[in-house]
Amino acid sequence: MNGGVVNEFGRKHRIAVLGGGPGGYEAALAGAQLGAEVTLVERRGVGGSAVLTDVVPSKTLIATAEVATSVRGAYDLGIRLADADGRRVAEPDNVTVDLGVVNARLLRLASAQSADMTAELRKAGVRVIEGEGRLDGPERLVVAADPDRDAEGHEVPADTIVIATGARPRELPSARPDGERILTWTQLYAIDELPEHLIVIGSGVTGAEFASAYRNLGAKVTLVSSRERVLPGEDADAALVLETVFARIGLDVLSKSRAETVERVGDGVRVTLSDGRIVEGSHCLMAVGSIPNTRDIGLEEAGVLLADSGHVRVNRVAGTSVPSIYAVGDCSDFLPLASVASMQGRTAVFHAMGDVVQPAELRNVTANIFTQPEIATVGWQQPQVEDGTVRGVIFKLPLEPNPRAKMLGIEHGFVKLFATTTTRQILGGVVVAPKASELILPISIAVEHRLTVDELARAFSVYPSLASSITDAARAMHIVR
Ligand SMILES: Cc1cc2nc3c(=O)[nH]c(=O)nc-3n(C[C@H](O)[C@H](O)[C@H](O)COP(=O)(O)OP(=O)(O)OC[C@H]3O[C@@H](n4cnc5c(N)ncnc54)[C@H](O)[C@@H]3O)c2cc1C
Repeated sequence: MNGGVVNEFGRKHRIAVLGGGPGGYEAALAGAQLGAEVTLVERRGVGGSAVLTDVVPSKTLIATAEVATSVRGAYDLGIRLADADGRRVAEPDNVTVDLGVVNARLLRLASAQSADMTAELRKAGVRVIEGEGRLDGPERLVVAADPDRDAEGHEVPADTIVIATGARPRELPSARPDGERILTWTQLYAIDELPEHLIVIGSGVTGAEFASAYRNLGAKVTLVSSRERVLPGEDADAALVLETVFARIGLDVLSKSRAETVERVGDGVRVTLSDGRIVEGSHCLMAVGSIPNTRDIGLEEAGVLLADSGHVRVNRVAGTSVPSIYAVGDCSDFLPLASVASMQGRTAVFHAMGDVVQPAELRNVTANIFTQPEIATVGWQQPQVEDGTVRGVIFKLPLEPNPRAKMLGIEHGFVKLFATTTTRQILGGVVVAPKASELILPISIAVEHRLTVDELARAFSVYPSLASSITDAARAMHIVR
């Protein structure tokens, strides 16, 4: 391994990273840790889309939406709001949200996080170049000069190149975002008044999260889903819970409706559905997927194979068809999650520098959908158990009887575990609950370390706690011999 020492050419291993999102950031830090000479090229801001437009802003917005929901629900728990003179003020149902303040806060957080990450890279000895980069063959990045910023061009020769250019929102010709009324998720944070009526096109994870958040912030929301149910591809029971909650909070779902066109009409939008129906609203959010940033950056010229979708084809250590080039994160054809991008970044560099590498195991990835309630999943899921891909049993425990859930006024949610038929080794699980993202960890650990239901059940859970539903579910799956 080359860690911290010179290579066969008598110099340090040189790593050039294109893109400073979680994938590129982690790759750069790993390279610095192993003693390489690392350069990272980023055109907009370290942290990438994850920090500046996607994860950090959306999850901060959602944090506010959760507090708004708690305040509304506080009435049922006996809370009454009063002014300074002790006079009762409006019922919690009338909670209003100052979206200008919310958006200013989340953009501030995003930019502070980006600054922290830049400082962290510099502290680790990474050279950070601001600018638009591209490959020039398999062993060099070039960064264009930018006369507007008085920035000169650069050439960055490298032994290893990590492509981490991420993705951007997909745009449809019949629904062009105008940044004011027809918006992508990257443009949402510029509006400072709560939309009167937000129409969300696309009921995948991004669409469902924003629809849930804006409804809970107080906007009227219509979610247009081309499929029969929201969150196609996710656990069917979880999607059903979400649809029940959406109906209860007055979030309209138009299922099996494809948006044909979205037009700006005066101060509003008109969405025409494929069945001829028309929905009018004040704003429209387009959440119809992402396009990888892989075109015109010299990948094909360097010999890097792309999938038809434009994603870079990678193996489990993020290697591409060219030995000196790795690709991580959303530009690769692996799994578009910030946590996965980071892990790939580290794995790529460890592999390039001959350190010990654990190839990524897609099946063990833990994912979460930040709706209210949240939906967290890990490991094999119900369709694979049902179609026989893995031989297993399924057990679902609703949260309803859980004492802590009753205390907190939680009415919807469940824990579901999948385990092998014979030895009851845990294969995977689903948690639908507030903060499911925090609750899923014991199941992730069980999947990663191949624990059995009995081993999981032996762990103490706190009484009363939502987590006890996980140990209870494991206990119920014990085989009596
Ligand atoms: C609304 C939304 C919410 C999400 N929430 C979550 C979540 O809660 N949890 C989670 O795990 N994932 C979430 N994701 C997914 C997550 O955002 C991505 O998986 C993650 O950003 C991928 O990281 P990355 O390193 O591949 O690239 P990115 O974060 O996309 O960063 C890529 C960077 O490369 C730069 N770049 C591109 N081309 C060039 C070039 N030619 N020269 C210089 N720089 C360049 C870009 O400017 C950008 O900064 C969410 C996605 C969306 C859309």
